[in-house]
Amino acid sequence: MSKNTSSLTQTHFPLIIIGAGPAGYTASIYASRYKIQHLLIGNILGGQISKASVIENYPPFKSIKGYELALKFREHAESFLQHSGSSFVFDTVKKVTKKDNRFVVETQLGKHFTADAIILAIGVKKRQLNVPGEAKLMGKGVSTCVTCDGFFYRGKTVGVVGGGDSAATGALYLAEICPKVYMFVRRDVMRAEPIWQEKIKNNPKITVLYNTEVAEIIGDQKVEGVITKDGKKIDLEGLFIEIGHYPDIGIIEELGVRTDEEGYIAVNPDMSTNVKGFFAAGDITNANNKFKQIAVAVGEGAVAANAAFNYLQRIKS
Ligand code: NAP
Repeated sequence: MSKNTSSLTQTHFPLIIIGAGPAGYTASIYASRYKIQHLLIGNILGGQISKASVIENYPPFKSIKGYELALKFREHAESFLQHSGSSFVFDTVKKVTKKDNRFVVETQLGKHFTADAIILAIGVKKRQLNVPGEAKLMGKGVSTCVTCDGFFYRGKTVGVVGGGDSAATGALYLAEICPKVYMFVRRDVMRAEPIWQEKIKNNPKITVLYNTEVAEIIGDQKVEGVITKDGKKIDLEGLFIEIGHYPDIGIIEELGVRTDEEGYIAVNPDMSTNVKGFFAAGDITNANNKFKQIAVAVGEGAVAANAAFNYLQRIKS
């Protein structure tokens, strides 16, 4: 996204895609090839994947850094833009409403765009622990992103909270640059892919503390350690909270889009929703058993673009 929305003069688009992750970029590639003029609005290049240290399960890349993959998605989607006279812009969508059969998209930079159809591909937000010390020490030893901040803790003793793939890949990366890494896993098992678990088990720098929850993060100006729920104090200088994500769909509150019991957007097999012309794809939906994977998001982006194409054809005729 080389430009921001203030450089755009056009205000109406047949399709607006919100989100610049794998689902959004794939939807854009398909939309361009269907010659649907569209605007893709994103605020983080690549979405969550840009923060993944390494990805080993998105074929055909045997192993690729998250940021590198994000750039490849963008380059690929950009190469087709000219086919549809479309644009990518950098901005944050604040609100989506519907008026006179058109969607109205308001952005942080104060722009208003309208569209006949929307594909929402905004991904999910990071969960926090909500324990004493977390808010106060955020950025002072507490981080929710190993890939973004891990390097600043090289040579230090650190901890990672969580037992999923984010925590596992994060701990493995940290073990390359830190002498000691604690993993705080709240149950007696991890959720991470067994292949990561095996690498962790074989890494002498990583100590996994099962059945262990962080109750408090201690330190005044910077993190000095944690106290666990069973009262143990562990000294460390950095704590990475990698405990998963939640859907945040506040921006479409007024549209009346149906969600499931956890707040993920309820989609039909073609990624349409209960609101006509409104489609969703990627981690924000309840599709595909809510398996939050790049390979899945890419497929959903393609399906959503196809359904949006069919929808736009229908309303034209
Ligand atoms: P996740 O799979 O939802 O795992 C979250 C982990 O945090 C679980 O171990 C969970 O424990 C734990 N947790 C949740 N709330 C907690 C709390 N309050 N206190 C302590 N622990 C807590 O999230 P994720 O690891 O971020 O992964 C999300 C998706 O992205 C997954 O589909 C994953 O495969 C994918 N991903 C892939 C890669 C990769 O392949 N490179 C990297 C990152 C993420 P419980 O198990 O007890 O619920």
